[in-house]
Amino acid sequence: MYNIVLFGPPGAGKGTQSEKLIEKYDLTHLSTGDLFRKHLGEGTALGELAKKYMNEGRLVPDEVVISMVEEKIAESKNTKGFIFDGFPRTTAQAQALDSMLERHDMSISGMIALDVPESVLKERIKERGKTSGRVDDQDEEKINTRISVYFQETLPVAAYYEKQGKFTKINGVGTIQGIFNDIAHVIDSY
Ligand code: AMP
Repeated sequence: MYNIVLFGPPGAGKGTQSEKLIEKYDLTHLSTGDLFRKHLGEGTALGELAKKYMNEGRLVPDEVVISMVEEKIAESKNTKGFIFDGFPRTTAQAQALDSMLERHDMSISGMIALDVPESVLKERIKERGKTSGRVDDQDEEKINTRISVYFQETLPVAAYYEKQGKFTKINGVGTIQGIFNDIAHVIDSY
């Protein structure tokens, strides 16, 4: 079983690589951003709550994210493991994830961080905004907020896994296939 945290700033390629990884390793894709967008689309109370944070590029409060992930893990019985994409984004979320997995007799295999320079991230997000329909991909100020939230609130999560000897950094600039091969190489070493 593999439980992988795919880490990196917005626009690093986590979603793209997750799609390929779940196919190769038969894993469950758990993207908190995708789950929130689904709730938004369905007009649920959770979607309404998350909306204002998402539209401003800020983080949804930890307890809301954590209970949503908890539910998703509980309903994914008999899975071969998870790719966590866009979660955990704070150290409180990382600690909660460890406890949740422990309750289900699982643990994190490792965190794989995609390293991409800030100028490339901004270009990628703007390009994605042309087709994603995401409000938060289309506005320069929101893009900048998301990137600064990443550096201030999310980057410490890397140190959390580094302390556990579970951190690997990968160059996130290159061809999709080349980056995928590098990630697969790390996973195969777990
Ligand atoms: P993403 O698709 O991962 O870029 O997420 C889109 C937005 O959803 C973020 O800008 C946050 O507002 C919210 N979000 C997604 N995942 C999380 C998380 N783990 N913690 C807090 N907010 C999140």
